[in-house]
Amino acid sequence: MNIELLSEDKQSNRKEFMNNEAKWPEHTEEGQTCYNAATCFTLNRKQGLHTNQKIDDTLLSYLNTCKREIIMEIPLRRDDGSLMPVKAYRVQHNNARGPFKGGIRYHQDVDLAEVRNMANLMTWKTALVDIPFGGAKGGIAVNPKELSEHELRRLTKALVAHLGPNIGPHIDIPAPDVNTNPQVMSWIFDEYSKLNSSTSPLAVVTGKPVELGGSIARLEATGRGVAIMLREYCKYKDIDPSSLRVAIQGFGNVGYYAAKIISLELKSKVVGISNAISAIVNPAGIDIEAAKAYEDEHQGDLSGFSGAKHIGRDDLLVIDCDVLIPAALSHAITREVANKTTAKLVIEAANAPTTAEGNAVLHQKGIFIIPSILANAGGVVASYFEWTQNLQQFYWDYEHTVAELDKRMVKAFWEVIAVSEKHGIGSRQAAYFIALERVAAAALLRGF
Ligand code: NAD
Repeated sequence: MNIELLSEDKQSNRKEFMNNEAKWPEHTEEGQTCYNAATCFTLNRKQGLHTNQKIDDTLLSYLNTCKREIIMEIPLRRDDGSLMPVKAYRVQHNNARGPFKGGIRYHQDVDLAEVRNMANLMTWKTALVDIPFGGAKGGIAVNPKELSEHELRRLTKALVAHLGPNIGPHIDIPAPDVNTNPQVMSWIFDEYSKLNSSTSPLAVVTGKPVELGGSIARLEATGRGVAIMLREYCKYKDIDPSSLRVAIQGFGNVGYYAAKIISLELKSKVVGISNAISAIVNPAGIDIEAAKAYEDEHQGDLSGFSGAKHIGRDDLLVIDCDVLIPAALSHAITREVANKTTAKLVIEAANAPTTAEGNAVLHQKGIFIIPSILANAGGVVASYFEWTQNLQQFYWDYEHTVAELDKRMVKAFWEVIAVSEKHGIGSRQAAYFIALERVAAAALLRGF
């Protein structure tokens, strides 16, 4: 195991710090993407926007740099007795506002750069929705579909042992991400509780099953947050949601619940959905529950679903619609997609689904963007509820959980609108502006 611990306060380490900067696109022109503190700040400064915090280059470098990066090689004992070395990462970006927080993904393409970028996004997301966490992310470079359940359990438990004292209820709290689920979170809790005598071991990880201290409504929380964004946008623009046609890329946890809540509660028409292997459209609106049942019965293939027409998977992104919701992958909205879309609103349910070029085109076309650090924050807000309930051993019911989630998401949406209108900037820049101010304030108060 190679654990690289970066000093938090030694100026002599500044050069090492600089090597750990997140490498998201750094375009600083209006309409470009600003995914990190430096990009946001440069853009703000260029436009003469004054921040309340004294942000100098040293603070900026600190805010842009991951505090700790843990690179592990885990020997996985396969069912046939052989050993397979597996690369794993945990990157802790910033904890000025509270313990590090962020998911763990299992995917063959996971690498340090991706985990670093995602950790960075988590810092701004938790700050924007004003919950007392910092940002982190983890990943194991493995295709979980090629492992048996026993192997997955051994690998997960080995990860916890390798992470050792670097996770904990008040240190760093992992959660599910791509290809990890409540079962994986249960194994993390179990291994942690065996290795540690913490008084509240349940709070070491969120996204657990309800039977093991998980929060009611955690599963639907990210999709519900996306639907709340659409509802508030309609209030802002004085639009009747039932008049809107919505296209959703990705029909997994986020996409499915977003589609379900948008069609059932907002009465908007979900006119197109897609998954990794198929896409379907129906201008009259798709019956979401029927499509889900069909997908489950047909190993994910929606193409034969009788309630809609089958189209090419990627054509979903450019169908005729009013609202486009990418809820699958990063970088789905390219320049080409942005040029072709008829949508007036993009709700970024996936993490960083818009390329810098796509973002510029959306901006030129005057398309309203609800950025991912706001749009998909419902999941981490529900994780915060789970963590507090685990610490207090006092549990909320469904209605209370959903009402609290609603309250937090609504507050964040209108704060972004207020800053956007006050400074005449786009919603993405406004979201990062707020988050940057909050993290900078905490860092300065602590004497970072
Ligand atoms: P998931 O694995 O449950 O679902 C992903 C969906 O995308 C699946 O339906 C899959 O078939 C589909 N997909 C994959 N490749 C596709 C492609 N090329 N075209 C169309 N569809 C494709 O994952 P999820 O939890 O729903 O996460 C989706 C996105 O939201 C990810 O970017 C994730 O990081 C982000 N996110 C998730 C949460 C959460 O609480 N689950 C929270 C914040 C952000």
